[in-house]
Amino acid sequence: MTKTIAIVSGGMDSVTLLHLLKHKGHEVEALSFDYGQKHRKELDFAWLNCGKLGVKHQIVDLTAITPLISNSALTGSEEVPDGHYTDESMKVTVVPNRNMIMLAVAIGYAENLGFDQVAIGNHAGDHAIYPDCRTEFVEALSEASQLGTYNKIKLATPFTDISKSDIAAVGNEIGVDYRTTWSCYKGGDKHCNTCGTCVERLEALDEAKQIDGKSVIARLTV
Ligand SMILES: [Zn+2]
Repeated sequence: MTKTIAIVSGGMDSVTLLHLLKHKGHEVEALSFDYGQKHRKELDFAWLNCGKLGVKHQIVDLTAITPLISNSALTGSEEVPDGHYTDESMKVTVVPNRNMIMLAVAIGYAENLGFDQVAIGNHAGDHAIYPDCRTEFVEALSEASQLGTYNKIKLATPFTDISKSDIAAVGNEIGVDYRTTWSCYKGGDKHCNTCGTCVERLEALDEAKQIDGKSVIARLTV
């Protein structure tokens, strides 16, 4: 049985990843990260989904480093822009080197537990604005992780080359309830439906209805 640490933010992608790992029969533990993000509601949804699946869940407190990385609209005083997710304006939502910081901690935890791999839900739609979601980055870091750990811990990034709509189709197939995921970057009580991630979420959920989730799952390696 493959033993996997999943990084689960509570958003659509990572919650689908969590369900997929369980669906594929992995032994799973989940980590969420509190890096001072304004949209803390997602952490509750991470907890909820882990509970539903019987997965041990821990929230890692990274708020000590928030002042060092707080020039982002997700953590600092900048406003989250409206508009499409891939727009240049969304660059204010980049938290510097966020994935590498979270992955470094998760890889250490996986090594400590004797696990095989760390999984993260980055996807093709993130590539335009987030350099640490791109294929080259995750492949290089997977290699570095294998070089730097006795267990040769790999990164599993099954969604790197698929769209968010494909991810939603996968989730629909394996029973993800997207009402128990959080996407909005604005931190209100409800999804604002106008910020970049909200627009992207609505498009993905709509497009997923036309996609055969089974055939997407068959293409994924975790
Ligand atoms: Zn929103």
